[in-house]
Amino acid sequence: MPRAAAPAAPRVAMPVQPAAERVRNFEEVALGYTFDMAVAEARRCLQCKRPLCVKGCPVEVPIPAFIAHLAAGDVGAAYRAVKTANSLPAICGRVCPQETQCVGACVLGRKGEPVAIGRLERFVADQYVHMDACDLLTGARDCTPVDPARRVACIGSGPSSLTVAGYLSTRGVKVTVFEALHEVGGVLVYGIPEFRLPKDRIVAKEVRALGTQQVEFVTNRVGGKTFSIRDLFEQGFSAVFVGVGAGLPRFLGIPGENLNGVFTANEYLTRVNLGRAYDFPNHDTPVILGRNVTVYGAGNVAMDAARTALRLGAASVRVVYRRTVADMPARREEIEHAQEEGVVMQTLVAPLAFSGDERFALRAVTLQQMELGEPDASGRRRPVPVPGRTMELETDLAIIAVGTRANPLLLASEPGIAVDQRGYIVVDEATGETSMPNVFAGGDIVTGAATVIQAMGAGRRAARVIAGRLGCPQD
Ligand SMILES: Cc1cc2nc3c(=O)[nH]c(=O)nc-3n(C[C@H](O)[C@H](O)[C@H](O)COP(=O)(O)OP(=O)(O)OC[C@H]3O[C@@H](n4cnc5c(N)ncnc54)[C@H](O)[C@@H]3O)c2cc1C
Ligand code: SF4
Repeated sequence: MPRAAAPAAPRVAMPVQPAAERVRNFEEVALGYTFDMAVAEARRCLQCKRPLCVKGCPVEVPIPAFIAHLAAGDVGAAYRAVKTANSLPAICGRVCPQETQCVGACVLGRKGEPVAIGRLERFVADQYVHMDACDLLTGARDCTPVDPARRVACIGSGPSSLTVAGYLSTRGVKVTVFEALHEVGGVLVYGIPEFRLPKDRIVAKEVRALGTQQVEFVTNRVGGKTFSIRDLFEQGFSAVFVGVGAGLPRFLGIPGENLNGVFTANEYLTRVNLGRAYDFPNHDTPVILGRNVTVYGAGNVAMDAARTALRLGAASVRVVYRRTVADMPARREEIEHAQEEGVVMQTLVAPLAFSGDERFALRAVTLQQMELGEPDASGRRRPVPVPGRTMELETDLAIIAVGTRANPLLLASEPGIAVDQRGYIVVDEATGETSMPNVFAGGDIVTGAATVIQAMGAGRRAARVIAGRLGCPQD
């Protein structure tokens, strides 16, 4: 392995589409490193003997090893190293909150700028997006032959299930993934917008690679309605993985939420992403364009909704939040990108009521001025209303992005699976197994809304245990 050539060199900046240009299209914002940029950034890595970056990665990508190969200019070897731990690297390289995971733990961050690990992972994975599907999935020229006698079912097709399918199929297990919607990928397809995660060029490509590995995808099948978990065992599946996410939206609980023009972020983004409303007129999925848009919440979902509305032609887009910009839970990069594009952060205000016109169309929102009081249980200063200070803001499209809950549909039909008070599945943390033998679960349906890589980590943990029970190699 080569030694680091220039650890003190400044971090290589990511080329991005200029804000004034990108706000008029749905093309990717971050354009990706060139080969020279990637090698220069890789050479900043110190190749630490005890790499903290790996500890920060939920799927334990061998980060120093893949970076060392890249620093030596061997992209193929770098890709194979990444793929030993991560079956969706082009996706993770784009959307993982690296600043709180691998990058956040990088030792170079103590005194300067940490290595841009996610950008390097993205670069390496992107070189292989154009390659043969088996290569893409396993890093090997030939796909592993699958034994149809060893069968495992996944319910839901988000990153947790895709990881289970990737892991088990490369160990010879036949995996069938049942998905309620007509497209595979979960939030990667219907939630995260095209300008952060291209659907056809990246997500579909990594999913298609699983198909070549003989993973079977069965769409338009709703677990708990069109089939039950017991049916799957009767059909001969040896184990079931439940990765149904937590897609039931929360509302604000204020007057006027039923007016035309008030959406949850879930519905709005699903129409735009899954219905391809952004690709008008090739797809003419109806979507309210909105002139003065307000978005409620301040996480990644809120930023995605705000930036989507701007791209669909809104004259003004405001993120309405009861704390300050510094308190926003969204990734810093997403907040900065949103601000550069013209999204206004309307902070220290909370919505009191929506009002409409005589045709029940949203017209305005009444906001309560807030100020920060004493810290609450989360350690953040609690927002409290300023008495008598309210204002009215014109808005014809309101998007509510204040979180989601577990959907009870599947679990209502399976009383044998224990859930907590909030409806999330209880699992054995080490194995991912639920209270029903050979039924495993992972991702948002266990943790509540979390991240792609955490969902993948849970899928990997469960898949290892399932592989062991089926007598397959585990790692
Ligand atoms: C708008 C948005 C932006 C986000 N941005 C980021 C980001 O930048 N970085 C990041 O790391 N994370 C992000 N997240 C969170 C991340 O996407 C999720 O944590 C992750 O996708 C959870 O994966 P999962 O496998 O649990 O399920 P999901 O991705 O939620 O997929 C679950 C799938 O199960 C299907 N399903 C549900 N019920 C059934 C049933 N009964 N039968 C069959 N199928 C069913 C659903 O249709 C869905 O396709 C974002 C989320 C959203 C909504
Ligand atoms: S902690 Fe940072 S410098 Fe050390 S091996 Fe990991 S990426 Fe390289």
